[in-house]
Amino acid sequence: MTTQYLVLDTTAFYAGVPYINTSENLVTTPDVISEVSNERTRSLIALSKINVLQGTPANLKAVKEAARRTGDNTMSVADISVLALCLNIAEEGNEPILLSDDFAVENVASRLGIKARPLMTNGISKATEWVFFCPACGKKYSKQRAECIVCGTKIEKRLRKN
Ligand SMILES: [Zn+2]
Repeated sequence: MTTQYLVLDTTAFYAGVPYINTSENLVTTPDVISEVSNERTRSLIALSKINVLQGTPANLKAVKEAARRTGDNTMSVADISVLALCLNIAEEGNEPILLSDDFAVENVASRLGIKARPLMTNGISKATEWVFFCPACGKKYSKQRAECIVCGTKIEKRLRKN
């Protein structure tokens, strides 16, 4: 029997999808947990039944190669880890569905034959905005980019505060 797993990426946590009262099989990776870890997400994780699993090194490598081929070089370690976990689930004969609003992640998922389901295409969450910033020099960017144009540090993202 095929089991369906919902694989949560970083954007799935920020979207605040109600994970608590669900009978779905929820999974994510240690890298996603550390990337989204704050008070709110920690309590969400504690209250829900999210399994934290890691993809195999071979699948991590396969994802990195797929990302290189599609030119999606902005993917974080967490992004790569969820896609690798999807490959693991598929290899075990089960069905992974990736929950993500990250365009690069969805693009690479499609390349790998992984089903992705967007979170914020409808409804109020659409208004959520990201701030991209350089953790070293503090320069802010309105769009995602790989590196800071000032100092070359890897750009990070967080939600814009209302
Ligand atoms: Zn900088």
